[in-house]
Amino acid sequence: MKFGTKAIHAGQEPDPSTGAIMTPIYQTSTYWQKSPGDNKGFEYSRGTNPTRQVLESCLAALENAKHGLAFSSGMGATDAVMKLLSPGDEVITGDDLYGGSYRIFTKIFSNYGIKFHFINMTDAENVTKYINPNTKLIWIETPTNPTMQIVDIEAISKIAKAKNILLSVDNTFASPYLQNPIDLGADIVMHSVTKYLAGHSDVIMGALMLNDDQLYKRLWFIYNACGATPGPMDSFLVLRGLKTLHLRMRAHCENGRMIAEFLRNHPKVEKIYWPGFSDHPNHSIAKKQMRDFGGMVSITLKDADLKETYRVASSFKVFSLAESLGGVESLINHPVSMTHGSIPKEERDKVGVTDNLLRLSVGVEDIDDLLDDLKQALS
Ligand SMILES: *Cc1c(COP(=O)(O)O)cnc(C)c1O
Repeated sequence: MKFGTKAIHAGQEPDPSTGAIMTPIYQTSTYWQKSPGDNKGFEYSRGTNPTRQVLESCLAALENAKHGLAFSSGMGATDAVMKLLSPGDEVITGDDLYGGSYRIFTKIFSNYGIKFHFINMTDAENVTKYINPNTKLIWIETPTNPTMQIVDIEAISKIAKAKNILLSVDNTFASPYLQNPIDLGADIVMHSVTKYLAGHSDVIMGALMLNDDQLYKRLWFIYNACGATPGPMDSFLVLRGLKTLHLRMRAHCENGRMIAEFLRNHPKVEKIYWPGFSDHPNHSIAKKQMRDFGGMVSITLKDADLKETYRVASSFKVFSLAESLGGVESLINHPVSMTHGSIPKEERDKVGVTDNLLRLSVGVEDIDDLLDDLKQALS
């Protein structure tokens, strides 16, 4: 099955009891047992719920994976992966990460004796310098948030495999429509389902997709034991959102390209970050591993201090100033004060997350209205 067909059908059959085309919302915490242990495969909804199970099959199919696990947030999914580790283990990860990932690594898991190396991953060879016998996990995010660096998943997966190190990829920015890390050698794909997969800014959810049966068993144990699993209503909303993922992604990519091209030559724009430009430093890797370049575009404003950046960020009429991304509506975000506030200034400055940086999540509205809005806000 091809992508759009999987987005609509994978894991889904008409409901056997009524023929309902849409998967019912099984709003139940528990399930009847005829005698102890004699049930229909469901016992308690923290561990298994029929609506969630259908969603998990669809999520797995979209990443060409055997298994899917849905979590109550992207951070819940990340937390579960980190719980595979033990004190003394080391993790190699990027120096330009989603702020919440940086925060859970440095403020939570560091306290449990896990050591993190935050490095520039755009040069895959750089990773080898940080590998030692304690290295148990490599955590990639690509494209990175918010500076849109591209990390070569296949090159790093070869390094990880040779050393028997687990490789996990945060695929939130690309979505499975643009990039499939498992096909490139990753062991685990993580998503903030909240973003493109759900697509309508109305759900918080996360997911892990993977092939290995043993690893799935370990992660399912953590998922059930720790309990960050989503409810049936949210599972239904995501199943519904997924049905248009391919259509939305095409529109995000098309609008993203038009906006990137418009902003590139705008006199108020100092720098632009979008991997589709042939002079983007990692463009060739982006072309190799992604099918298109997505709807995320970041810019820095020329000669703008924090106050001027705030003024511009607050003057949009169609774009909404808000955290998050990947919904049908266009959003603008000021990383320093919003999504990346938990990263220390010295660390932010190193990777270009400066006071005058704005990140656009280009939605699927009519492009003329988006361009007009940018024109007036930047005037
Ligand atoms: C939003 C986001 C997360 C966290 O996901 P939540 O659903 O908000 O918990 C992780 N990684 C990236 C790249 C994100 O954008």
